[in-house]
Amino acid sequence: MRHFVRISIAVAYAIVLFASTTTRHGLADELAGVTVRLEDDNSPATIRVTSVARYKVKISVDSHAENKPLDIRVELPISGRDAWPIANVAAFDSKGRPLAVRRGGIAWHRLLITAPPERGAVIVQTVQATDDRPQLPPEKERLATDSNTGLNATICKWRNDRRAALSIRFDDSHPTHLSKAIPILNTYGFRGTFMVNPGGHSPNNRQRSAFEEHRAKWEAVAKRGRHEFANHTMHHRGAKNDEEMEREVGDAAKAIWKLFPQKSKLAALNLGGGTQWVTTRTLQYYLDKYHLFDASANSTGMDDAYGKRVATFRRLLEAHIDRGLWYKVHYHYIGKGLSSSEANFRAVLDIAKENEPQLWIAGMADIHKYQTERRSARLAIENDGSSRVNLRLFCTTKPELYDQPLTIEVVVPKSWLANRVMVRNLEGKAIATQSKQSNGQTLLYFDVAPRNGLYRVGVE
Ligand SMILES: [Zn+2]
Repeated sequence: MRHFVRISIAVAYAIVLFASTTTRHGLADELAGVTVRLEDDNSPATIRVTSVARYKVKISVDSHAENKPLDIRVELPISGRDAWPIANVAAFDSKGRPLAVRRGGIAWHRLLITAPPERGAVIVQTVQATDDRPQLPPEKERLATDSNTGLNATICKWRNDRRAALSIRFDDSHPTHLSKAIPILNTYGFRGTFMVNPGGHSPNNRQRSAFEEHRAKWEAVAKRGRHEFANHTMHHRGAKNDEEMEREVGDAAKAIWKLFPQKSKLAALNLGGGTQWVTTRTLQYYLDKYHLFDASANSTGMDDAYGKRVATFRRLLEAHIDRGLWYKVHYHYIGKGLSSSEANFRAVLDIAKENEPQLWIAGMADIHKYQTERRSARLAIENDGSSRVNLRLFCTTKPELYDQPLTIEVVVPKSWLANRVMVRNLEGKAIATQSKQSNGQTLLYFDVAPRNGLYRVGVE
């Protein structure tokens, strides 16, 4: 920590020097990866940027002869050791009043802040999350060993001990999702994630939305429950202020909750490419309030226009399997003359099918839940004699939102008769298990609810 403070002071000092010697035009400063500049290169105004604390910069503004509001562009680093927690960033004036910030729907780290043409300051900083985040136990606490019997247990990295996860997303509730994507996914037995815009026609537009036009079909898809729906905002048109953003995000969340009345309210959010959002609030405010997680980043766009999509998918899927990671892809429209041809779509699904034994192909919320639940969880073993142990699972995620079962792996002690091992819950009810042989050992797998629980594993 001390080390970091010293660096930022040094950087701030360099910026002050630079600012004091630079010309008044086109000032661009860098500060531990933070870039700040005036949008108007010809403005007589000047800015000076200093680091106040970690994730807090002060932009001092001097308008000089400028009489128009000043547009200040701030870009925050999203990778590396200086990366900011982008969802928690907001801007304030020197009196601590929140400022409206304009951002692109899929570029939340690029802020455009309009300051009045006067001498003053803009503070860009992270704010405390409203929700208290669970403490994350280290990885070794998800592995438990009983020294008495030699039994080992762990929470599998992915469901059913698959090596990696794959989500296949479809944006904009396009009619070809109903006519092509869903029937084709069903023949493969894959679950897709459908980012819908459930809003009706916009006030300035007499046309009905694609979703509204086919509402009955979307409702039928929701009712069958084979696919997941996600929040792509009501109308895919951004928002000019807090109230509009609240409606665009919040009403879409409520529309999806209504389609899945018995299900967890947690869903993926993607504000949409090509949209602009103006809000004084953090993205985290909307995420927390509507039980959303940001799913816009790190996804491979599958539009044919990007070129070599099938080969790219194969290469990146294999890299994610090798590293045991979650691979995300997204489509727009499927069919002749549309963003992805049906042939290319099917070729990608064929590759996924080839790799299915190693892959957990699931909805984005399913995968996000598993990952979050697992990171919050711990396992412990209590010995109960030479042929029985009690396995204790501790979870801190909220069960009403996080309801994705976790898979437990047990390495059966060699001294036990593997075919007589049973798993029971606290009430004594037998839990279904699957077993496999690996390096002369028997591995047992079973699913558990992501909540505190006790499981008896023993020879019967
Ligand atoms: Zn979109």
